Amino acid sequence: MRHSYAVTIPEEPPATAFPFIQQDMRRKNSMSGSMLVSTFVGLLINHAKNSKSAQGLVGLRNLGNTCFMNSILQCLSNTQSLRDYCLHNYHRRDLNNNNRTNTALMEEFAKLIQTMWTSSSSEAVSPSEFKTQIQRYAPRFVGYKALGYHCAPLLNIILPCLCLSSDLFVGQLKSSLTCSECGYCSTVFDPFWDLSLPIAKKGYGEVSLMDCMRLFTKEDVLDGDEKPTCYRCKARRRCTKKFTVQKFPKILVLHLKRFSEARVRTSKLSTFVNFPMKDLDLREFASDRSSSAVYNLYAVSNHSGTTMGGHYTAYCCNPENGEWYTYNDSRVTPMSASQVRSSDAYVRTVDRDKVQDSKPLG
Ligand SMILES: [Zn+2]
Repeated sequence: MRHSYAVTIPEEPPATAFPFIQQDMRRKNSMSGSMLVSTFVGLLINHAKNSKSAQGLVGLRNLGNTCFMNSILQCLSNTQSLRDYCLHNYHRRDLNNNNRTNTALMEEFAKLIQTMWTSSSSEAVSPSEFKTQIQRYAPRFVGYKALGYHCAPLLNIILPCLCLSSDLFVGQLKSSLTCSECGYCSTVFDPFWDLSLPIAKKGYGEVSLMDCMRLFTKEDVLDGDEKPTCYRCKARRRCTKKFTVQKFPKILVLHLKRFSEARVRTSKLSTFVNFPMKDLDLREFASDRSSSAVYNLYAVSNHSGTTMGGHYTAYCCNPENGEWYTYNDSRVTPMSASQVRSSDAYVRTVDRDKVQDSKPLG
């Protein structure tokens, strides 16, 4: 049986502050078996019927070259389980139990998410306190002029600092190294917070996200100076290397490597990368083909412009009404789902459609 990836609520939440939480509870109780096939889609249907205006449609002020931070924050804000976690203040409990987590950053993140989802006005919110915390950990990522290609590294700094995020965002990559002389195969398992995909090159036209995934997992030959030492031969040998995904996370962050750092200057690839909005099936890249790896897209971080000057925006699907919006710093505007496919897409977050091993949060 498939389990939904629902939030359990141990105590009565403040109803006036978070009216949709009560709706969540009602919905959970009345959920039919068929709706559990995709909790995500079920949510969209319910809310499109029930709510006239959605919450969370709040812009973030630009504090001076912080558009990439804002873009990432909007993607995280529209990550339903992470948002609910913050709104329920579950991080307080987890912070007490886990002293490895960065308390101050998590507190500011939760505070910001709460402000964004409970604000009664449509006025943009200032993420200055959160920025202060980020600056303590990654001074080089915030406040930089013009350079916009720090978005993915920034996400890699933020995510490990947030409690709960390890349950949601962390997967495991298996890399296998096979000796061409003796056939000995060594495997290494590494956790990942995102998959950094090279952009597949074709003679003309667009490439698909699957092309990029195939290029990422393509068998690679390590020869010449790159020859690794074979454990069995006890000598440097020509080897083949291959990645497979050992464990897919519930929420998968895909980073399209649009920026290639050449010796002299960084360049940007604007190849159109086509991707499905729903039912992205990544099972062929799993170490174990029977694992659950079907995803729906819900957020995209975009970079427009060049490496010398550019701007970040986000396209996010509001978890309450299922509609897509463009988040451009302080401005939030509706958009159609068909506009989401853009050549500027840089970081994508997809939510796993079927969750088989989920624990309820809480
Ligand atoms: Zn060998």
